[in-house]
Amino acid sequence: MAHNKPVSEIRVEREVRLSSPPAVLWPLLSNTNRLNRSLGLPENDVSRSGAYERAVRARVLGLTVSWREAPFEYVAGRYYALRREFDNGPLARFEGGLRLEPDGAGTRAVMSAVVAARKPFPRALARVFAEKAASDLARLFRTIDAAVLPSGECGCLPRTASPSNEVLLGARAQALRASGANAAAAERLIAHLRSAPDDEVSRFRPFERADRWGLPRLQVLGACLHAVKAGLLDLSWEIMCPNCGAAPESVGALAGLRKTSHCDGCKISYGVGFDESVELRFSVHPSVRAATAGVFCAGSPAHSPQAVAQVPLSPGQARDIELDLGARSYRVRGLCEKCSVLLAPRADAPSELSVNLSDSAKPRELFFKPGAVRLRLSAGESELARVEAESWREAGATAALVTSLNEFRSLFSSEVLAPGLEIGVKRLALLFTDLKGSTAMYERVGDATAYGVVRDHFDYLTAIVSARRGAVVKTIGDAVMAVFGSGADAVEAALDMQERIAELDAKLSPRAPVVLKIGVHEGAAIAINAGGVLDYFGTTANVAARVQNESAGGDVVISDSLRGDPSIREVLDRRAPSEESFESALKGLAGTHRLWRLRPRAVK
Ligand SMILES: [Zn+2]
Repeated sequence: MAHNKPVSEIRVEREVRLSSPPAVLWPLLSNTNRLNRSLGLPENDVSRSGAYERAVRARVLGLTVSWREAPFEYVAGRYYALRREFDNGPLARFEGGLRLEPDGAGTRAVMSAVVAARKPFPRALARVFAEKAASDLARLFRTIDAAVLPSGECGCLPRTASPSNEVLLGARAQALRASGANAAAAERLIAHLRSAPDDEVSRFRPFERADRWGLPRLQVLGACLHAVKAGLLDLSWEIMCPNCGAAPESVGALAGLRKTSHCDGCKISYGVGFDESVELRFSVHPSVRAATAGVFCAGSPAHSPQAVAQVPLSPGQARDIELDLGARSYRVRGLCEKCSVLLAPRADAPSELSVNLSDSAKPRELFFKPGAVRLRLSAGESELARVEAESWREAGATAALVTSLNEFRSLFSSEVLAPGLEIGVKRLALLFTDLKGSTAMYERVGDATAYGVVRDHFDYLTAIVSARRGAVVKTIGDAVMAVFGSGADAVEAALDMQERIAELDAKLSPRAPVVLKIGVHEGAAIAINAGGVLDYFGTTANVAARVQNESAGGDVVISDSLRGDPSIREVLDRRAPSEESFESALKGLAGTHRLWRLRPRAVK
């Protein structure tokens, strides 16, 4: 082996002045995965070696070169640094870095590289190699700077977008346009699939796209769901590691989910939860475009977009980093210790914080003053520390949310869990309705007419549930069970149902007017496959059904815990139903329960 041969070191530094600010350029200039691909560097064959270190092999000029790559160190908008130790080939080591500094309205980008070549590899040749790499990158940086929009969108760099099959894309785009999907979202999506880089059309997150495009998240999600039906997209459910945020497992249908999953990197097994670990993503259909999301830089910050900073720590070492934190929450994670501390914004909080990731008495929550923050990170053992924006995980289209949308349930009615599998959902809202006095109605108007009334009333309820971003789970006799991702949406839907009952009665006239009983409750539940339907069971479902029993008709009954939620308070303040509290012993449940009877203002 060539390990012991002496090396000669070359240092290169290059400065580029760019017209866009660091915050806009950072996601593009730190995406070394895409930059390397554009530069024509070979695809990497990556395996694990030690905690978060990668062993990488690549074919270079007909030769297989292997190296170990430590996790990048970086602070978003400011700098990154990488280090590769080669096992073979002419180089022993490569260290690269980029520093971004504000320069008026633009950016001063300083690249640096240290190349350690093994003798007898000529020093002059090593210098040529380093200088060329710096020139190539500088050229790409200028190309990006010339093309980037304030939104962060950037045209394609050479070699980063595979061509699309225009005939198929055109035909399927027409099918999407005819599907009833939101037109603006559909057009934006079609343009995206035609020309965005491969890594942005592979396993992309619909809500991230929506935020980038300035379109409502559910409209873009809806367009993506219709695009799957039109053959433009494939969907996948990514099962995300709670520690590192990577998706070590992915299934093409909910039926492929299992109760637990495993992350090789973090060496942990974890329970799969519907709203925490399972996220819907989309990829361009391979017949429309053969996009590949290959690895061209194993440690690239692009692989962990949730992190605004990543710092490896040696045992006992303390590192100070300066970073720009907005007025939102962040989490400092120790990936090795699998621990975290929440950072919450507060105007009167300090701008200097210290987090020791191995201190068992470490606080669960710290406050910071939004703006430039100096953070001291330390750990007793080797650690990989990350600062993550909490909003990144919140931008996931979780299985809990997606399966509570009527659009999803009607387009993908076969998307259910494997029989017998139970998956936890931390929070969802269930709404139950029933028709008051339906037995008497059947006797009065006859079975055929009564059945027509019941069916029309189902249509009325389904339309309201759908408009309030919920889904009808099932009907039980004359009763409806609906699910919502948010309790506020469920309460709004319930109030809509009662306030607009005259619309239904007009449609039912002269057959029979109806009186609706409605109950809403929110909490944790278990998702299951009940006879081919994605259903929910558990205490929350029981309570919601019992709460509905307490409805007298024309009113909406909600649980006290639901009413205490600030988002519900906002709905009640705005819609101002009369509110009356009462205690009730709910059938089959222990103790008495405090409930609230809401009477919409519009109802007599
Ligand atoms: Zn992990």
